[in-house]
Amino acid sequence: MSKKIIIANWKMNPASSQEAMSLFSGISKNVSQIKKTIVVICPPFIYLPSFSKALAGKGKIKKQISLGAQDAFWGDTGAYTGEVSAVMLSDIGVKYVILGHSERRVLGESNENINKKLKSAISANILPILCVGELERDENHEYFNFVKNQLLECLNGIPKNLLYKIIIAYEPVWAISTTQNRRDATPLDSREMAIFIRKIISDKLGVGMKMPRIIYGGSVNNKDAGEFLRYGGIDGLLVGKASLDVKKFTDIIKIAENENN
Ligand code: PEP
Repeated sequence: MSKKIIIANWKMNPASSQEAMSLFSGISKNVSQIKKTIVVICPPFIYLPSFSKALAGKGKIKKQISLGAQDAFWGDTGAYTGEVSAVMLSDIGVKYVILGHSERRVLGESNENINKKLKSAISANILPILCVGELERDENHEYFNFVKNQLLECLNGIPKNLLYKIIIAYEPVWAISTTQNRRDATPLDSREMAIFIRKIISDKLGVGMKMPRIIYGGSVNNKDAGEFLRYGGIDGLLVGKASLDVKKFTDIIKIAENENN
């Protein structure tokens, strides 16, 4: 069984570098006993260099916490005002990048763009966390086709032997904490989609190839993380709101650590 992975998506929070460092230090201190769970913190770009420096001096914590970005542009350098490339992130020690988050898709991010970003991230040696998920669930189960289409378009042309590097995060938009009139998803909703995603990927890969990890995200907190990890058919969690609270987030990490036993 692969190690569980717990990823924090801080989104555009917190407002100051002081608050960011205090949150980061709080989480770092609390994971010193964690051995089997992979912890990834994805803060806003601006906090990454100082976190990377803070980790550089701490060999043990460095093994337990990795840094991730919330986006990365394709290409290495060039005339792309305002963008940051995967190569630049890799240069400061960033290991993961969230791509195709629903909050970016709503701003116009297309599957085609995400596909280019995935390819660039992989070639810069950064592990992408590809977010997919339907806006709503309909009675005719069209949402399966919606997710399938997102997956196939985003993964188009990526060599089969590299697909395992991508972590696929199933995030039903209707369950994300900031969605208006949101509803709770259940571990069963997660399990059903995780099986569906595994089938799509294994049809693409054929037998004998290493599979990508599949994780779940959407309002997970320290009360339901255990149920999602146990019954959700997944290898980890992407956590938004609860990752901004040291206690809630470290509780989730400890729950994952116990599930790894
Ligand atoms: C997210 O948007 O990636 C997410 C998981 O958010 P939340 O946990 O706040 O629903």
